Amino acid sequence: MLPLGQGTWQMGDSPGKRRDEIAALRRGIELGMTMIDTAELYGSGRSESLVGEALEGMRDQVYLVSKVLPSNASTEGTRGACEASLRRLRTEVLDLYLLHWRGSYALAETVAGFEQLKQEGKIRAWGVSNLDVDDMEELQGVPEGRACAANQVLYNPEYRGVEYDLLPWCEEHKVTAIAYSPVGQGGGLLHSSSLAKVASQHNATPAQIALAWCLRKALIAIPKAGSVQHVEENRAALDLQLTEDDLAVIDTSYPPPKKKQRLATL
Ligand code: NAP
Repeated sequence: MLPLGQGTWQMGDSPGKRRDEIAALRRGIELGMTMIDTAELYGSGRSESLVGEALEGMRDQVYLVSKVLPSNASTEGTRGACEASLRRLRTEVLDLYLLHWRGSYALAETVAGFEQLKQEGKIRAWGVSNLDVDDMEELQGVPEGRACAANQVLYNPEYRGVEYDLLPWCEEHKVTAIAYSPVGQGGGLLHSSSLAKVASQHNATPAQIALAWCLRKALIAIPKAGSVQHVEENRAALDLQLTEDDLAVIDTSYPPPKKKQRLATL
């Protein structure tokens, strides 16, 4: 699987964009961006329904990820939420099922639900999202907690605190790190002068530089793109090789963390 997948937050929210969003996801799959990330939260299920439609005839090519809301993450609630997601996604199995963020249910309860789903063949693996090192350590201590396969966290030049401890922790413990909002939600990051400077050196766009910057680490980045043009542009970022000089330019605007920073979330 390529280390570049596709996000789907806000997809399915506006009927006028539906056709373009489906075309974008399908083009991305053709180009090898086969990790598709969604969640029951997104549009209260509308994103999952759109993904289900987009995957028609392509499900086998995709590594499909969805997430349970913390408010549903009891043992029984996790199973019920997963079954509803499977129906919306028109599939029988998720490749990866994540706890969206930590809520009031004990981690052990959620893990028990994940493990039951695994035994029933409804998910192939499970993981978490928005958990910092202390939570990951705690997770290791609950029954089957070491089966956690992934942690999805905010990561882009503006939010790089995880470089200090969480990314190394994930690498050491063989937990796949997944970077969300890698192009800064298409906001100010894409207008930064340092990204523009590096982009001009590579005949690239700031979004491509942001992605190449994320992908220098051992992780999977999941930009959301609502058009074929953006998808193709993002895919091409995999071919960019940033130099030490490029990274130094980006560091001047977005310095690396020198000490522990609390995990940033959106
Ligand atoms: P993102 O991927 O950083 O940014 C998406 C925005 O950037 C969209 O407005 C998109 O516009 C634009 N964009 C994408 N490619 C572009 C390009 N090449 N040039 C210019 N603009 C471009 O932000 P995100 O959607 O927040 O994060 C990605 C995914 O991570 C989400 O969709 C979701 O699946 C996941 N996520 C997870 C969590 C969590 O708590 N676990 C939180 C946030 C997000 P267009 O749509 O017009 O292409």
